[in-house]
Amino acid sequence: MQLAALETYLTTLLPKLGVNKQRELVRLMYEIAKRDQKSPAQILPLEKNLNFERAKKILLAQRYPVNYKTARKDQFYLPKLELDPAQTADLTPRSFSPKTVYIETSVKDTPLAARVRRAFPQAVFKETDGKTQVGSPYFSKRLDTLLIHREKYDFLKPCPCSCGSAGCGYNLINLGFGCRFECEYCFLQQYQNLHAVLLPANVDEFLAKIDGASFRTGPFDRPRIGSGEFTDSLVFDDITQYSAQIVPFFRARPHLQFEFKTKSVNIGGLLQAGGAENVVVSWSVNAAPIIDLAEHFTPHLTARLQAACEVARAGYRLGFHFDPVVIYDGYQQDYALTVEEMADTLPHDKIAWISVGTLRFSRELKKQIETRFPANTLLDGEFLLDFDGKMRYSEGQRLEAYRFLVPLLRKTFPKAVVYLCMEDPHIAKLF
Ligand code: SF4
Repeated sequence: MQLAALETYLTTLLPKLGVNKQRELVRLMYEIAKRDQKSPAQILPLEKNLNFERAKKILLAQRYPVNYKTARKDQFYLPKLELDPAQTADLTPRSFSPKTVYIETSVKDTPLAARVRRAFPQAVFKETDGKTQVGSPYFSKRLDTLLIHREKYDFLKPCPCSCGSAGCGYNLINLGFGCRFECEYCFLQQYQNLHAVLLPANVDEFLAKIDGASFRTGPFDRPRIGSGEFTDSLVFDDITQYSAQIVPFFRARPHLQFEFKTKSVNIGGLLQAGGAENVVVSWSVNAAPIIDLAEHFTPHLTARLQAACEVARAGYRLGFHFDPVVIYDGYQQDYALTVEEMADTLPHDKIAWISVGTLRFSRELKKQIETRFPANTLLDGEFLLDFDGKMRYSEGQRLEAYRFLVPLLRKTFPKAVVYLCMEDPHIAKLF
C-alpha cells in the first residue's frame, strides 16, 4: 500500500485533520491494508458525519479485533509511519564475505587474525588502532566489514533481561557482535550502532574472568553462562574456533554450565572439541512458517534438529528456545508439529532446558522491522504497549499461548526444565 495514496484518500475524506491526527489514522489504515489486503475505501468508507474520533474508533476496532474492547487507550502505539526504501534488507542469498577486514594492532599476530587472513583472501585488510570508527552507515551493509579486536572492558555480566521481567539467573560473555542471518525480529537491527561484524581475539581473557566471579544460579542447579546475546554463538565458529577454547575450559569446571545459543548448523568445532556434560548447545526453534518467512538464511528446523542429534551423540546436552512464539491463525497446530518433530528426532534424556517466550519488541524495533521488511507478517499481530514499555501480545493472548505450549512441552519432555523467558513475573509464576 502506497503511503501517498493513503494520505490522499484521508485528505479527501477528512480535509481538516491536523498533522498528528492524520498520522494516527494513516498508520492504522496502513497496518490494516497490509494485513487484510484491502483498499482505503474498503477500510474506511465515506459516511455521513465522519470525524476523527469516529474514524479512529472504526480503524482501531478493525486493527485490534481481539483486544480493542479490553486494551487501555494508551496501549495502542501509533507513531508516524516512516518507511525508508534505502534501509530495506537485502534478502539475496549470499555467503559471508567481508569486503574490508580491520585488525587491531594489538591482536594482529593472534591465531584468529591469521585464520581470517586465510578465510577472506579477496578482502582488503587494514590495521587499526581500535579508536577509529569502522563500518557502514547502514545496518544492511554490516556484513561488508569485519573487525578483529581485543575486548578490554565488557567481559562478563548478568543477563540484563528486560526491565521488570522474570529473570532466570543467566550470565553472559559477549563473544562477538553482529550476525549474518536476517531474522526479521532481531533486536540487533535496532541496537547495533556499529554496522560491522566484531569478533574478539582474546577469548582467553573472557574465560579468565570466569574463575574469579560469583554467579547467580536462578532456578537451575548450576550457574549458567552463555554467549549469543549480540550474535549467534556458532554462526562464525568455523572462523573463530571459540568452541575449541570454551569446551575444554568448562569441561574442567563441572560446577558451572555453558550454553551456546544458535540457529546455525555450524557444529564442526564442537564435534572436534569433544562433548562435555556441562556444555549445553541450544537451538532456537520455531513453527515452520515462521522460519520460512521471518528467519532469512537460517537452516530449517529439520537441519537444526539433525545438528542437535549430532552434538548430543558427541556428549553435549541440548537446549531449545521457542522464542519468539508468534501468534497467528493456526499457530498452535504449527507449533505442535515442531514439538512432534522434536519428539520424534531428539534424544529426550539429553535435553536440559526449553524456554518459551512470545514475540516482543521495543517501539524503535517495530519501526526498524517495518522499514527493513515491508512485507513482514510478524507485525500483523496485535501488539500493545506492555508493563516494561515493550510491545507484546495482550496478556490474554500470551496466556493462551503458554497454556497450550508449556504443558505440551512438559508432557513431551518430562525431564527438561521448561520455563518462560522475558515475561511479566506475575505471568511467569503461573507456569
Ligand atoms: S540468529 Fe539471532 S542474532 Fe542472528 S539475526 Fe537471528 S535473532 Fe539476530
